[in-house]
Amino acid sequence: MTHLFVKIFAVLSILFWQTKPISPGLKPLLIIWDIGQGLWVTIVTDRACHHFDIGGEKWPPPVQHWCRSRDNDLFISHGDEDHIKFVPWAVRHLPRFCLVAGPLDEISARKKQNLSLARPCSAESARDAGIREITTLPTHVSEHDHNLLSRVYVFDSPEGAVLLPGDSIVEGEALWLKQLRAEYHIRILVLGHHGSRTSTGEALLRHLPDLSIAIASARKAKYGHPHAEVVRRLLDHHISVLTTEDYGHIAIRL
Ligand SMILES: [Zn+2]
Repeated sequence: MTHLFVKIFAVLSILFWQTKPISPGLKPLLIIWDIGQGLWVTIVTDRACHHFDIGGEKWPPPVQHWCRSRDNDLFISHGDEDHIKFVPWAVRHLPRFCLVAGPLDEISARKKQNLSLARPCSAESARDAGIREITTLPTHVSEHDHNLLSRVYVFDSPEGAVLLPGDSIVEGEALWLKQLRAEYHIRILVLGHHGSRTSTGEALLRHLPDLSIAIASARKAKYGHPHAEVVRRLLDHHISVLTTEDYGHIAIRL
């Protein structure tokens, strides 16, 4: 009998622990991790860590500090190694880690194997968390344009939304910017393609009147990101430009 009570207590404890808010009333925290060239963004809410891409050159950042007691889910923009490299690590170290959306571009068998380590999770949890996907696919993509298949996300928040274009390029921006509804009030942009000159076109910036901060996750010596032309364009629009290389991990309370 005692044994049964211990079992029931254990089950109730697990249920309670999994459903209670960890920090009730906590405003979401946006973290752009300094992982060198690559991308790993985490939005920390009461109950969950929502990760947008999970790659880079440096060994995983101190993400466990925020995420070891929360649910963890992952939205991948596309299949480049610098966006997916740490999936096997996350499966081992982040609780209840699951994959909401995988890459739309063709990836190698080894990458498929690594991604298959993460169990799929339901899209409902993402919608509940204020995450919207605005990916718009072109009718035709050549094998050299796989960045046109990059998924694009908006994290909506009353204080201002965050735009996460992955490695989307200007031709892609022309497709999905029509979905940037006026009510999103995008305030923060994690620069597409790490601030490459092939992204963040003038047309996109004209659709983001509330944008005040742009962040490049990159290491200058690798590919020259963020590109001087993009930085110039942003400054012309009075948008501050931060880089993980200069500031380290960047955390913004939304
Ligand atoms: Zn990239």
